[in-house]
Amino acid sequence: MAAGLSLMLLLACSPKDNQPSPQPAKVIPTPVELIVGTDSISVNKLTNLPQKVSISEKDLLCKLGDQALTDWQLKSAYWMEIGKRRVKIVAADEEGVFYARQSLKMMASLDSMVTCCTILDWPRFQYRGVMLDESRHFQGKEFIYKQLEMMALLKMNRFHFHLVDNPGWRLQIDAYPRLTQFTAWRPVPYFWDWEINKIGGDFVDEGTPDAYGGYYTKKDIADILAFAAERHIEVIPEIEMPGHNYETRAAYPELACSLEDGGPSKRELCPGKESTYTFLENVLLEVFELFPNEYIHIGGDEAGKKSWAICPDCQARMKDEGLENVEELQSYMIRRMERFAHEHGKRIIGWDEILEGGLAPDATVMSWRGTKGGLKAIAEGHDVIFAPTHYCYLDHHQDPEQYHRAGRHLPLEKVYSFDPMQEKIAEEDAHHVLGIQGCLWTEHVLEAWHAEMQLYPRVFAIAETGWSPAEKKNWPDFEQRSSKFSKVARDWGYNVYVKPMTNVAP
Ligand SMILES: [Zn+2]
Repeated sequence: MAAGLSLMLLLACSPKDNQPSPQPAKVIPTPVELIVGTDSISVNKLTNLPQKVSISEKDLLCKLGDQALTDWQLKSAYWMEIGKRRVKIVAADEEGVFYARQSLKMMASLDSMVTCCTILDWPRFQYRGVMLDESRHFQGKEFIYKQLEMMALLKMNRFHFHLVDNPGWRLQIDAYPRLTQFTAWRPVPYFWDWEINKIGGDFVDEGTPDAYGGYYTKKDIADILAFAAERHIEVIPEIEMPGHNYETRAAYPELACSLEDGGPSKRELCPGKESTYTFLENVLLEVFELFPNEYIHIGGDEAGKKSWAICPDCQARMKDEGLENVEELQSYMIRRMERFAHEHGKRIIGWDEILEGGLAPDATVMSWRGTKGGLKAIAEGHDVIFAPTHYCYLDHHQDPEQYHRAGRHLPLEKVYSFDPMQEKIAEEDAHHVLGIQGCLWTEHVLEAWHAEMQLYPRVFAIAETGWSPAEKKNWPDFEQRSSKFSKVARDWGYNVYVKPMTNVAP
């Protein structure tokens, strides 16, 4: 009886005999509104359909009806109708057209037949990012292109480029050639062997046989920026200060505190010496020239301050500037560098340690030690990007059985469960939440295949949290979409982690 009823319902709902019922498009991130039509067309036909594109804010506003979007949402928003004879796209900006086409591309990748539909779509957050640490292990330009391509398909728009850190400087700076001629190279590939096991010594000159490392020339960076810009992705370089500067001190020892062997803090610049500021300003001038975007990340995290407490230059600076403790000395440096950035039309982002000792007036905080720092910054009227370790640190392993030195188990479901607004941020403060970022630190990630296994599919979850409305997020549905798209991505050559862990080096 029940089976007979089901069959009748199935027949009544089928648009045509022998054709499957219309299914909503299974794209990631899931769109704001999707109305499924009754027809289906083959992927081959879809990719050859004529596209009627209208770039008109007025036309888009008509499609949006009473939906009130912010300017940045409007820029990314699109309306798209996939019919049997043509695809119509309406957007206020090229960016919206680009995102419509990304939806189309993803739909075409998932099935041989695509159900006709109408989509109205825009992002929830303006910052939808991925961070890659290339200091610890260097992958190079082709790897970056490949990941930017995937980010674009997922409608992500910020690539945070962690270019400099203790184990290697990866960016050509003309004024300071030793940063790349010397401290971009180390004697052993594996960071852990170098950092913890102290194998082979510190750094070696470029050209030394078997030296491990590499760096981006200014031409490489220009190529990467052009590639990213075509995909509406902004590249945010990170130049770390005052901590995480072991490599900088190895290249230019005079940047350390004036103590024997630079003092007990081995990775910090001396914020007392005027020459440190000259160095940072000269580096930043070249960085500003290279990266045209508004934001620059200045790090600010995990600075050991023992040397500063005993360094005569640091003590003199504190006395002259009326600074009561070493936290205020760090804050002095960050504020001073923020002023410098402002003078050149730039704004700074820093890890949440920049809150300590007083936050620079216009700084944006990247909240990584949980969400507390982010909430404090919002309370003080600052913009925040959420990248909390327990949800967004993609160096943590995906498989409970996987032996991994880096951190804890961070499965896809947990990444997906994070909501940047979950802490009940007041409505009037919501605009301070710029968005979300997944961070891949590479202490234990030597090779490209491993980096991709850490990134995917968790970046899919970050993308959906960043783009889709909170009420549209649905774990069981996402899990299915993620699994389906993971197969496609693997066919394209991405080493997407599959449960249980089967990924091995090619
Ligand atoms: Zn000092």
